[in-house]
Amino acid sequence: MDAMSTVPKTWTRDTGSVEKRDVWSAMKRGFRGRCPRCGQGKLFRAFLKVDDHCSVCRLDFTPHRADDLPAYLVIVIVGHIVVPTVLLIETNYSPPAWFAFVTYLPFTLIASLALLQPVKGTVVGLQWALRMHGFDDNAPSEIPPV
Ligand SMILES: [Zn+2]
Repeated sequence: MDAMSTVPKTWTRDTGSVEKRDVWSAMKRGFRGRCPRCGQGKLFRAFLKVDDHCSVCRLDFTPHRADDLPAYLVIVIVGHIVVPTVLLIETNYSPPAWFAFVTYLPFTLIASLALLQPVKGTVVGLQWALRMHGFDDNAPSEIPPV
């Protein structure tokens, strides 16, 4: 009667049972610009260009989908440092305008550039550890990658 499929479509406790990946170590390795699986190979081939695969363990990096998240996170992090500091200095000391141009702006620029690659590596490490997008080896084939 039911000729649609012989594969059960019911999710059970064992359906998704796969080896757990350590999220924190993968994120730390990504923060250092290293492969989230082995921690040895380089994650980036350029400043923000993720390499195609790990040179040591051959992990395929192409399934990552960091997109704009690292930039948003850097804005949040740097903004939470710069804005309270500027408010504190401006309300208590009222420095001249040139002070803002020689301190706040360079700090914001340098901090943003310094954090972009580590934050992107952290996001890629998180995606790998959580088997997001194409990092899941056992993903059902009928679900297209996002
Ligand atoms: Zn590796």
